Amino acid sequence: MTTTQTARLRNFIDGEWRDSMATEGLDVINPATGDVLGRVPLSSAAEVDAAVQAAGKAFPGWRRTPVTERVQFLFKLKALLQQHGEELARTITTECGKTITESRGELQRMIENVEVACGAPILLQGDFSEDIANGVDEFMIRQPLGVCACICPFNFPGMIPFWFMPYAIACGNTYVVKPSEKVPLTMQRIAELIEQAGLPKGVFNLVNGTSETVDAILDHPDIKAVSFVGSTPVAKHVYARAAANGKRAQCQGGAKNPIIILPDADLETTTRITADSGYGCAGQRCLAASLVVMVGDARKPFTDALAEAARSRVMGHGLDEKVQMGPVISPQSKARVETLIGKAMQEGATPIVDGRNAAVSGFERGNFVRPTLLDNLNPNGEIIRTEIFGPVLGLVHMKTIDEAIAFVNSGAYGNMACIFTTSGANARKFRCEAEVGNVGINIGVAAPMAFFPFSGARESFFGDLHGQGRHAIEFFTQTKVVVERWPKEWTRQF
Ligand code: NAD
Repeated sequence: MTTTQTARLRNFIDGEWRDSMATEGLDVINPATGDVLGRVPLSSAAEVDAAVQAAGKAFPGWRRTPVTERVQFLFKLKALLQQHGEELARTITTECGKTITESRGELQRMIENVEVACGAPILLQGDFSEDIANGVDEFMIRQPLGVCACICPFNFPGMIPFWFMPYAIACGNTYVVKPSEKVPLTMQRIAELIEQAGLPKGVFNLVNGTSETVDAILDHPDIKAVSFVGSTPVAKHVYARAAANGKRAQCQGGAKNPIIILPDADLETTTRITADSGYGCAGQRCLAASLVVMVGDARKPFTDALAEAARSRVMGHGLDEKVQMGPVISPQSKARVETLIGKAMQEGATPIVDGRNAAVSGFERGNFVRPTLLDNLNPNGEIIRTEIFGPVLGLVHMKTIDEAIAFVNSGAYGNMACIFTTSGANARKFRCEAEVGNVGINIGVAAPMAFFPFSGARESFFGDLHGQGRHAIEFFTQTKVVVERWPKEWTRQF
């Protein structure tokens, strides 16, 4: 029996599974059925300390393990993740609600990060300059930092820890993962696979919990670097507290992603991709489209086509292969999304498709919100600026591409912006002028591959080095520059 079937989740510390000492816990609930899947303990600062002590103890041995040996563990982990892929995808769907196809996609993205981290032997290489002065050489090496940690959100329970953890470990650091308390089962199972892969004890640790556990991570003097993904207010809190405690921090926050549609865009492709961006994962992707900016004559055909896409999307339990959209994560989330839809209408928006009060037969306790399409969002209202994180697309209308780009740049967030057009010159202008970290051109979810940084900007990101690829390698290493001289006169002649 795997731990995903047991009632109370455990922490994985110093190579062993430990029952948390916490008396308090939270139920983990299947968002499609309302069934309780387990109970997550709210681990205390003492348990974070135990994990950090274990990671600290493991660090000297792990950092001196040759990188070529360290990555062998990642190769084994990759094989195990693939071998258990379908089971992991089903776990993601069961606790997070997304469709099984979306969970398989998440898993693929997760594995790609392991693959890229396996390149650590070359990615970690330093620089060498001979003869920077007479008889003097200078070189730069990268060394691991020590104990590092990540704090994760609910919407990608498998992938997001992998934007950081495989790179940290490949670089010679030791690690603590704190999954989202809403979706801890996936990481619990992955920790079992990590154990099976034979990583030395203490190199990887898992501590469950919520804000108290997070603050214990942020305050722990022996944690050198923290990676965070979640909402902007918490990202700001984590960034400020980690920095105040002398840690490196990279904090990815919320989003309000716009898609610009120019009149020359291809109707069929643009509609399909835009609807998938807005309604895929029930709008709970940090790269989900939230605003559709129609330019000029795009308005009529694309509004009609998006309305049809919203109405026809098949909603239900994500394990049903026919289903195209699952529930939102919790009853609180459903209530919040529905309140925001109502608020947009009070502010003057017209509901073309109103997804509130949805029910799916057989899943009456599920947190379902149907795809929603709102026209004429109030440009001075609150909803045009607020992250909804649900299946809601709001339409705004502009006369020119310049107005549309100015609108994109006027938002507080900078996670992603996309444009749909058949004009290269307009696409190029947009690519250059959009003030966001990830740009899509005829792409609806511009998710960077694992060998590119997951760039976010402005209120969507706090820090400088992002997750994934070379940025992760830099984040998880300290550069050391050595300048050395070996005078000939000191050397015995042979
Ligand atoms: P959240 O901010 O509520 O929680 C994220 C993590 O922070 C969790 O582990 C949680 O336990 C912890 N946390 C929550 N409140 C805290 C507090 N007051 N003090 C300390 N820790 C706290 O986010 P969520 O609801 O799990 O995830 C959705 C959010 O994440 C959305 O805003 C979404 O845009 C964002 N997100 C961003 C990206 C990105 O790459 N920029 C990716 C995925 C999700």
